[in-house]
Amino acid sequence: MSSRKKTVVVTGGAGFLGSHLCDRFLAEDMKVFCVDNLITGNLLNIEHLKDERNFRFIQHDISKEFRLGDKVDYVLHFASPASPVDYLNYPIPTLKVGALGSHITLGLAKLKKARYLLASTSEVYGDPQVHPQKESYWGHVNPIGPRGVYDEAKRFAEAITMAYYRYHGLDTRIVRIFNTYGPRMRINDGRVVPNFIHQALYHKPLTVYGRGTQTRSFCYYTDLIEGIVRLLKSNVTMPINIGNADEFTILRFAQLVVRLSHTQSKIVYQSLPQDDPKQRQPDITLAKRYLRWSPKVKLEDGLKKTIRWFEGRLSTAGVGGRKKI
Ligand code: UDP
Repeated sequence: MSSRKKTVVVTGGAGFLGSHLCDRFLAEDMKVFCVDNLITGNLLNIEHLKDERNFRFIQHDISKEFRLGDKVDYVLHFASPASPVDYLNYPIPTLKVGALGSHITLGLAKLKKARYLLASTSEVYGDPQVHPQKESYWGHVNPIGPRGVYDEAKRFAEAITMAYYRYHGLDTRIVRIFNTYGPRMRINDGRVVPNFIHQALYHKPLTVYGRGTQTRSFCYYTDLIEGIVRLLKSNVTMPINIGNADEFTILRFAQLVVRLSHTQSKIVYQSLPQDDPKQRQPDITLAKRYLRWSPKVKLEDGLKKTIRWFEGRLSTAGVGGRKKI
């Protein structure tokens, strides 16, 4: 019997979630090819892996042709700008990595007879008119609005993944990822978690968009990674929501960040971005039933760890650390 290690390709492997997946697969004694073009990924996220024998980083834009000589068992397509600010800054790369990048990675999985997992998103539900969101809901997306570049790219990615499943018989999985947070998020990615923590650590006002009545449900990354790995190893081929079902208004979330970071920051209100979803909460019945998965980390505990991590990164990055007042 061959003792060849299981081999996985993770696109977006230098990003927030991609890098945590690389860690997880290495811990499971797999061989990891991490592919990233570094437009929003960060080499710092994988620096600790550079001397690992089973880890290889390939700097490449996965929207363009990609070849690999090795045998591959799993392909996980996680490459994409993932914050509203990033995909507004990179609208065309976002569309391309969701469309062309999905086609290329599906082609790789087909060639290698590998199992394929697509990182999809709660954004496929758009500004939802059904609450909480079940996988059977088709969504409410504005295709020509500013978020359309991400939402529609991911909807296309789901469609082409299902086409490869049905037409080519490819072994596919689709995870719909809801708001996730934790160490290795980019401090300036514009999402609410890094924004508020950064502002709080510098005692600047926390910028709540709109009146802060919109809701989100935040999942700590360790829970999310566990859910993804369970989905990968399951035989569930239909999309599955993975996220935390505890729903908070953004205003309440801001107040929590203020309390946990012991800051002098006030809250200020700014205009709400166009098409910002008013409410978002995953229905995780299917993940519970089929993956025996449910999130374990409470928002307060995960946030404390995340705040501590950002404090460390800000001070080692030499950008001033936390200001004394
Ligand atoms: N948000 C906010 N202040 C910020 C950044 C974001 O009030 O500084 C709000 C944003 O309008 C949205 C929610 O926080 O309602 C979550 O935004 P994020 O960019 O994290 O991701 P989204 O869930 O919208 O994809």
